[in-house]
Amino acid sequence: MLVIGNWKMNGSTSMGKSLVQGLVDGLPATDPTTDGVTVVVCPPAPYIGAVAGWIGDGQIAVGGQTCHGQESGAHTGDVAPEMLADCGATYVIVGHSERRHDHGETDRQVQDQAKAAIRAGLTPIICVGETKQQREAGEADAVVTQQLQASVPDGVTASQIIIAYEPVWAIGTGLTASTDDIAAMHQVIAQVMATLTADGSVPSLLYGGSVKPGNAAEIFAVEHVNGGLIGGASLKAEDFLGIIRAAM
Ligand code: PEP
Repeated sequence: MLVIGNWKMNGSTSMGKSLVQGLVDGLPATDPTTDGVTVVVCPPAPYIGAVAGWIGDGQIAVGGQTCHGQESGAHTGDVAPEMLADCGATYVIVGHSERRHDHGETDRQVQDQAKAAIRAGLTPIICVGETKQQREAGEADAVVTQQLQASVPDGVTASQIIIAYEPVWAIGTGLTASTDDIAAMHQVIAQVMATLTADGSVPSLLYGGSVKPGNAAEIFAVEHVNGGLIGGASLKAEDFLGIIRAAM
């Protein structure tokens, strides 16, 4: 199981330090997984090096929230995956719906970012998910299938990537997809991914969208759900620990 916290554009040095301390104190001291659960936190880019330092010897891994496709160059404000790795990250989220919405990121860009992340030795967490309108129009399966086909780099093996299914209407809204809908979509994603990986196997599949300590166990029990991508509830140590315990 994987439990990945996306802090989004939240935090500060003092908040990050006390959150990380709360997680380190609350987790059993096993390295690098906790009772079979891999825990990752994705702070805003300026804090990645500091968070990696506070975590210390690898009980929790660190990830970025996006990256550029190039290794360096004239791209003001962007961050190369090699820079994330240099600061201690081992994962990076790509194609989050907020990046797609706020910055107009396309599937093609997401694919470049995922490729670049692999080049830099990071594991990309490739996000896909339909909007409310698309679900209501009965298009959810087709939309997610198309996003996967266009965003997943050619020739990858299942162990090189992670897929996060995040229905856009469930992110930060308190609304969660039903376990039946999650099961149905993860089944579709597993089938599509088996056709897209070089080895025909399926990568870890996460669900994201208003996961909380109270609903995490039920969601993690769904077939083809290998963990969660957690936004709001990853900002409080107690809540995030509750979700991690539900995955154990
Ligand atoms: C997210 O940002 O990826 C997310 C799932 O957010 P939340 O858990 O707050 O819905």
